[in-house]
Amino acid sequence: MYEISVRAAFEAAHFINGYNGKCSRLHGHNWTVEAVVCGENLDKLGMLVDFKILKAELKKILDEFDHRFLNELETFAAENPTAENLARNIFRKLSTSEIFSASTKLFAVKVHESPNSCVTYYE
Ligand SMILES: [Zn+2]
Repeated sequence: MYEISVRAAFEAAHFINGYNGKCSRLHGHNWTVEAVVCGENLDKLGMLVDFKILKAELKKILDEFDHRFLNELETFAAENPTAENLARNIFRKLSTSEIFSASTKLFAVKVHESPNSCVTYYE
């Protein structure tokens, strides 16, 4: 089994509605997102998924969030834009990409809110 991952980043503001603490105030993060793909079958070139293509697919999704106020987005109309909810949202969008197959799947999405805080979402 092979596991590969790519990272991409975006910058955005949010606040956590209902939180008792400073995260209830408007603030921003430099979010880093990692997409982890696993599978057993390599293509003719010996690749599971081309890093460049995987990164482009991830960036397409992150464009929705980059330089935005996350709480205002339709995606977060019914829930807080926490790292957890971002990770699930990104996972579900990215997992529908045509680059995946029955044998090569998106395994997890990791969202780093800061260098020391990370959420991993998988299904
Ligand atoms: Zn925050």
